[in-house]
Amino acid sequence: MYPALPSVFAELHLTVLQRDWLSSNHIVFVDPGRTTAAVIDTGYSSHAAHTVALLDHHLGQAGLTRILNTHLHSDHCGGNHALQARWPGVQTWVPQAAFQTVQAWDEERLTYRLTGQTCEPFAADHPLRSGSTIELGGRSWQIHATGGHDPDAVVLFEPQHRVLISGDALWRHKVAVIFPELDGEDGFAPALASLDLIEALDPAVVIPGHGEPFAEVADALAISRQRLRKLQAHPANHARHALRVLMVFHLMEHRSLPLQAVCDWMAQSPLARRPAVQRLMQMDPGPLAHHILQSLIADGVVRTQDDQAVLV
Ligand SMILES: [Zn+2]
Repeated sequence: MYPALPSVFAELHLTVLQRDWLSSNHIVFVDPGRTTAAVIDTGYSSHAAHTVALLDHHLGQAGLTRILNTHLHSDHCGGNHALQARWPGVQTWVPQAAFQTVQAWDEERLTYRLTGQTCEPFAADHPLRSGSTIELGGRSWQIHATGGHDPDAVVLFEPQHRVLISGDALWRHKVAVIFPELDGEDGFAPALASLDLIEALDPAVVIPGHGEPFAEVADALAISRQRLRKLQAHPANHARHALRVLMVFHLMEHRSLPLQAVCDWMAQSPLARRPAVQRLMQMDPGPLAHHILQSLIADGVVRTQDDQAVLV
């Protein structure tokens, strides 16, 4: 029988600081000598002060020496800037496929412009190369590139304990937005291929980018495959889902906003104006934004209070 998660994580010298859906989880490794530490994924920028406080508290005497990002969505690297300021010597590792993009700070390619989200610029020092390994907490972790949600992403795998750090490539019950599809590129096939890769690694435990670590890996893979195939068959549903996720994310960040401001923001967002999204949704950005907000209200995700939209 596979041992309990706390003892496995202790052996691997890792701790999962679980956050919410606006900020990704932080996976923290403190080396056996307790002098150096690494963190994988750093949350959303508006939560950065809290992220620094959490790590300060958790690390104690150990200094943060490395930041790693599974991918560069704003909810996974939004704390990089603040952590680099707090620990100036820290070395930052990003997926190889995104390394040049970070160095040039190309916001279009980094998706922040697409999603209307913010991320303070940060420096990257090293690429995470797929097929190589990196030492974390005294153990060797494999690096594997994954596609689908983000074509530049990586996952990390420790083969002895069969622990996978999946970023947004695999969650327990849901699937992440498949961003390439919103640009008219194939994202579903790479997302399904990433699930095949994860299955072949045969993890016993998955630490996802959002939500609790879990051991029900076969079930999570089955759920993800089923959902992806459904969305693949009905790509307009995926575009609609993506717009809903984006609006919810925007409301998470701002808590409540005037209804008109939410609609205006979405109507002007690059995502709602993307040709592929327009083609799938068959609606102009203005009516589309209104339609998305109404659907969230109808489903009880958002409620209205006076003229404000409030996340339930
Ligand atoms: Zn992501």
